[in-house]
This record gives sequence, C-alpha cells and structure tokens, in this order.
Amino acid sequence: MLPVRHQPARVHHRAEQKHLPGLPHPTPTQPRALPGLPAAPRARVPRPGEQADLRRLRREKPTYSCRQCGREDNCYGRNCGPCTLTERATELLTDPDTGQIHQQLQPIFNALMNVDRPQTTLYWFRRSEGPRILHRMATGELQISHETFEQLPSNKTTNYLRDFLTALGVLPHYEARIERMLPWLEDLLDTIPKSDADIVRRFAQWRVLRHLRQKSAHDQLTKSMVLQGRAQIKGAARFLAWLTRHDTTLAGMGQADLERYLITHPGSETAQHAFIGWVRTSGINTSLRIPKQPRRFSSVTMSEEERWATSRPCSTTKRCATTPESADFSCSCSPNP
Ligand SMILES: [Zn+2]
Repeated sequence: MLPVRHQPARVHHRAEQKHLPGLPHPTPTQPRALPGLPAAPRARVPRPGEQADLRRLRREKPTYSCRQCGREDNCYGRNCGPCTLTERATELLTDPDTGQIHQQLQPIFNALMNVDRPQTTLYWFRRSEGPRILHRMATGELQISHETFEQLPSNKTTNYLRDFLTALGVLPHYEARIERMLPWLEDLLDTIPKSDADIVRRFAQWRVLRHLRQKSAHDQLTKSMVLQGRAQIKGAARFLAWLTRHDTTLAGMGQADLERYLITHPGSETAQHAFIGWVRTSGINTSLRIPKQPRRFSSVTMSEEERWATSRPCSTTKRCATTPESADFSCSCSPNP
C-alpha cells in the first residue's frame, strides 16, 4: 500500500495509459476556471468514424465495430444501434404476403429510421404493447383503421399509437378528445341496467356527441366542453337510477318528481338541463321543464342609518382607539368596513 501522498500520481499514471490520441482526457484533471482567468480549452469530441481513421493511422485494432456497417460507435449487441433498429423494424412491419414493408405502414418505418436515439426505440419495441399491435396490423391480423382502436382497450399505449399513426397520415384525422369518450361511455353503460343504458346511449349519441362534433368541425371544441359532456352523461345515468329507486320511469314521471330530484340534489341543474331538454324534444316526456332559478340578490338586513348608528371606532387602525366586542360590529373609521 503506497502512502496517501503517492495515490494521486498513481491514478494519474493509469489514466494516462488508457488515454487515446484524439479522445477527451479520461480523468477529471482539467484545470478549473478561476475568476478573472480564461477557462482552459476543452478537448474536441471526435466525430463518428474519426476514431476509426485515428486507429487506422496508428494501426490499432478496434475494440468494437458493427458487423454490418463497420461503425465503431453506437454499440448495441453485435451490431450498432441503427443497424439493429433497421433489422427489428423490418421484421415488425413486413407484410408476409409481399415480403416487403407493409405499404400503409411505410411512413411508420421511415419515421423509425430517423429517430435520434435508436436505443430508445428498441427499448419501446421490447417493453410496449404498441409494436405488437403494429405487427398484427402488418400481418393482416388487425385492420389499420380507427375502428380497430375502438375495439382495443383504451389506455395510454393504444392512445399513443393511434395518435402516432394519425400524425403520420396512416390514419385519417380524428378528434381524440371525442373519440376517447366512446370506450369511456361503453364502460359506463356496462355498469347500469340495460333499460337505462339504452336511454343514456341515445342521449349521448344524439345530443352530447353530436354537439361536440359540431363544435369540433368549427374548431371551437374546448376541454371544458368535453368535461361538461361527460358530466351530462353521468348525470343522466344518475337521474335514471334515482327514478328506479323511487318506482317511476322517465315517461311516467311528472314535473313534481323532477323538482324533488333537483331539490335533493343541489347543483345538478346544469348537468340535467341538457338531458331534460333532450327528453322533451325526443318525445319521451314532453311535460318536463327545468325551473328557472331566480336571480339571487344580497339580502339587506339593516338600513344604512341603522348601520351607521351601531358603528363605533375600533383599534384596527392607528386612528381608532376601541376594540370591537361583537361579530356584527362595524367600524366607523371606514364607510365600507
Ligand atoms: Zn451498423
């Protein structure tokens, strides 16, 4: 064991042995910039292929080179990252009938070949369900269409892949915020009785989704509209469940039942407004109306003269001397306490 004072020199000597010409120095022995002094020049990072030229000049044998293209960087197993990505993407997107990349999926292949980090895409190939869906599309097991994604579970993976295909023009444009409501709607309908589900489905299709699609066609769709549409659908299902619990139906209920529901469910007027309007226009029950809410004004409990008569100075400002003794106390220091 060398003395402690010799260890930095030994580390520096080993680092010098590993140092290759043209490469950045491997040890952190670069002098640091001092205040007032210019920083030391950094070692230039060699370009791809430059390492091979340097080794060829020095007649050194490379430690690694791709078996296909010969590059000595971007190592990924036996081949480099780009060559491995080309091989895997070709296997993934090849149409078995033609032996070529599936014609509709060619934009996907081109996009994958232009990624900055092939390793990231190769990791996506291994870990995600999305590439397996692409392979099933390339082999003809799945149709390349929006209808296929409507049948698949709606999750982050399928939504990303659907947006990816749409962005590259493989699938026609679609309004993601509306289309993603469809699987959500089906999940909701599965949790309620079939008679209620039929009514909610009709309301969602002919009132809520139609309205949202009209807004989308005029480029006026907002996130709050989508959230409101979901709230209207959930409110309709909740209202029908309440009717069932009170032994009545949508067609047989009266205005008194509706008002009783609104009283016992404060704040539901907004969500029920669209549903009751659709119930009336669709002819299911034409007698229902959402009662108009009276405008609320602030109630005046005392006149201006009474208010000034009960006011006294307080200690909240430097001009005041006394302390308020009750909650309804008002200070005479300010006309608007
Ligand atoms: Zn290669």
